[in-house]
Amino acid sequence: MAERALHAGSPRGLYVRTFGCQMNEYDSLRVQRLLADLGYVPVADAAKADVIFLNTCSVRGKAEQKVHSYLGSLRRLKEARPSLKIIAGGCVAQQLGEKLLEKFDHLDIVMGTRAVDSVALLLGRVQENGGRLACLEDKDNGSVDPGAERIWVGGAVTAPVTIMQGCNNYCSYCIVPYVRGPERSRPAAEILKEIERLVESGVREVLLLGQNVNSYGRGIDETITFVDLLRRIAAETGIARIRFTTSHPKDLTDELMACFAGLEPLCKHLHLPVQAGSDPILSRMNRGYTAAEYVEKIRRLRRICPEIGLTSDVIVGFPGETEEDFEKTMALIGEVKFDNLFSFRYSDRPNTRALEFAGKVEKETAARRLMDLQRYQTGVTLGKNLAEVGAIRDVLVEGPSKASNGQMTGRTTQNRVVNFQAPPTAAGKVIGVKIAFACSNSLKGEVVHESGRH
Ligand code: SAM
Ligand code: SF4
Repeated sequence: MAERALHAGSPRGLYVRTFGCQMNEYDSLRVQRLLADLGYVPVADAAKADVIFLNTCSVRGKAEQKVHSYLGSLRRLKEARPSLKIIAGGCVAQQLGEKLLEKFDHLDIVMGTRAVDSVALLLGRVQENGGRLACLEDKDNGSVDPGAERIWVGGAVTAPVTIMQGCNNYCSYCIVPYVRGPERSRPAAEILKEIERLVESGVREVLLLGQNVNSYGRGIDETITFVDLLRRIAAETGIARIRFTTSHPKDLTDELMACFAGLEPLCKHLHLPVQAGSDPILSRMNRGYTAAEYVEKIRRLRRICPEIGLTSDVIVGFPGETEEDFEKTMALIGEVKFDNLFSFRYSDRPNTRALEFAGKVEKETAARRLMDLQRYQTGVTLGKNLAEVGAIRDVLVEGPSKASNGQMTGRTTQNRVVNFQAPPTAAGKVIGVKIAFACSNSLKGEVVHESGRH
């Protein structure tokens, strides 16, 4: 008998576990939303679920190992409850396809990165006909799935909006173009309509998502750049705040820099991954800029918008990285002094060009470099946070803080997390908070007035 009939009328539990980036977070929300239409409600405990959706990440080897061990651990749940359906989506699923079904015989569905919209269909097929399946096809043949209006969960103050999918940059270390496919932008009208709807539902801030948002507009029929899109969102939707991620340094134009000073809803924060500070390494990474060009762009940006918050990604131990190359990376981060940094040890990924590169750096050497870099950056981040003490910052209140009991949490325009005492009714408002205390990952403060601008 079909599972649907068995459960008719009673809510069924959906447990979602997400590994990896914001694109995966976004896809998980979409799966949650699509299965909610079938009566699935989120549960916090995998043991109470009728369906488990595991969204996987393969960007680094360590992330992929975590996925394999978590999938292995689900076997006992399936043995205890054979009607449980386990679905793997995301980049590992796209990359391994049927091989994942072969490795884990308790896994029911493997779903590629471009099959997210088919989740209900695939689940229904397996529940009604039995069996197991892998679906990796590009269902929409190159267009981008509409998203936010169907994934937004009522009450949220911020919402992600995908503006493009895939990537054409082929950085030599990166698996993304192989698992997420070529770059596809969404038509502007569709994006604007979604943001308007989000605003009507109470959303105050949107995060525009894409692997390389500042190349938005390539490969669609209309003539539009990322800056045009930002201006239209600012002028036509009534959204209070706009953020975006991720940007590629080679596509950061003066026109985009000017937006940080002149486009009112745009938050003053830029995540601009540099990856390395040595030119031979940047060239072998296929990044398309030199260290000096990167630093010069940062200088120009800071001239245009001195208060901009800057964060970045760095890879250490890339094949062929010498001590001198690493010192150049340290010199770059010492010169720029990012507000925060996400740093990774290089890991070999299937299909990428760097997999074949000679001069693989010993694990211990790369680990030591990573530790040195992180220790230095922690000091810089803490110093920057301490410099905030005493300042009054406009904070968009997002909701109750997970970390501090009874406190609310929000972000400054520079993307710093601030916790403070305020009533739950403050959610969605921009309030002035005087910063009283700095930690390495967040700030604490007191509300001084109830209406800020940005
Ligand atoms: N599109 C974004 C960009 O260009 O920066 C994000 C790509 S990736 C999902 C996020 C970060 O993971 C990259 O910026 C890079 O620092 C890191 N990364 C990607 N591949 C890696 C690898 N093979 N080993 C270590 N770190 C990697
Ligand atoms: Fe990967 Fe480079 Fe594309 Fe970012 S820009 S997703 S690092 S290939």
